[in-house]
Order: sequence, then C-alpha cells, then structure tokens
Amino acid sequence: MSDIQIVEAPAGVEGSGFFATSLDKAIGMARANSLWPLPFATSCCGIEFMATMASTYDLSRFGAERLSFSPRQADLLMVMGTISKKMGPVLRQVYLQMAEPRWVMAVGACASSGGIFDTYSVLQGIDEVIPVDVYVPGCPPRPEAIIDGFMAIQELVRTETLRRRSEPKYQELLAKYGIQ
Ligand code: SF4
Repeated sequence: MSDIQIVEAPAGVEGSGFFATSLDKAIGMARANSLWPLPFATSCCGIEFMATMASTYDLSRFGAERLSFSPRQADLLMVMGTISKKMGPVLRQVYLQMAEPRWVMAVGACASSGGIFDTYSVLQGIDEVIPVDVYVPGCPPRPEAIIDGFMAIQELVRTETLRRRSEPKYQELLAKYGIQ
C-alpha cells in the first residue's frame, strides 16, 4: 500500500491535490531520494562504482549524484574494496565523523566478508569495525547489483522513524560497536 493517501478536499476547499501522510513518511521519502554517498573505495569494486555513476546506469536517477568526500556532508557510507586491518581504524573514524542519520553499505565480497583475502592482514568484513545496513555480494558486483543494494538502503531510509537514534534497537547496535 502506498504511503500517501489521496483524500477528498474538505468542504469549502475547491480542487483536488490533497494528501495525508505522517511527518515520518514524508521526511523518509525526501531523505531516501536525496542521499549523499561517500564512496570509500580502495580497490576493484570502486571501478564498478564508477560505471554505476556513469551514464548507462546513472545513479543520479535515484537522487544520489552528489557524492561527498567529506564525512560531515554524507549520510551513506559505501565501502568498496579490500579493507586491511590497518585501514580499519581509519574507516571507523570516517564513520564516526558522519552525522546521524547515517547508513552503511558493504559493496562486494571483500567489504562484506574479506572475499578471497582470507589472510591475517585483511578485515574479514567491515562489520568487524562498524555496523552495516546492507551487504552487496559479488566479486565485483555488477552495477545492477550495486543499484539493487542502493534501493535496499532507500527502502530502509524511507521506512525508518525519525527517532532512529533513540530507538533501543539502534542504541544496542551502537553499543555493540562501542559507539556512544
Ligand atoms: Fe576486488 Fe573482488 Fe574484492 Fe571487489 S570483491 S575489491 S572485485 S577482489
């Protein structure tokens, strides 16, 4: 069922065009369609992201053409590539520098689980250091898969309450990562 209900104009008001929704849903819809991603790309999956941004796949159709290279101005962290254990604290710092509300997408096998690099120097998934909202499988994932993951994030954003930060479930998740 749609989030928006078209309702008849109240008596005394002419014309159509009225709709009723909640503030949560209206803001969720606006946020979901204006995400500012920060591409944290360290290797090959980042190349697929370039294709995802280019004209054939065109992520801007989803309102996400404005990439941010400052965590202060981003609300979606897209991690693409192999993340070494030395890089882990840097990634965590970038995450911590993002303001709420923020979401995280692990793009590709390396970011999700270490991928083929089952070795002492590589994080076996970025969820060892930060919470992840959506995982995109593939080595590398095709642009269609990245877009699919992006749409899953949009769905989360659209349906999430404005009070996410104070929700006990979210607080528990942050506490698990030692984040205040
Ligand atoms: Fe490269 Fe595959 Fe790892 Fe992506 S998942 S960074 S393509 S090795």
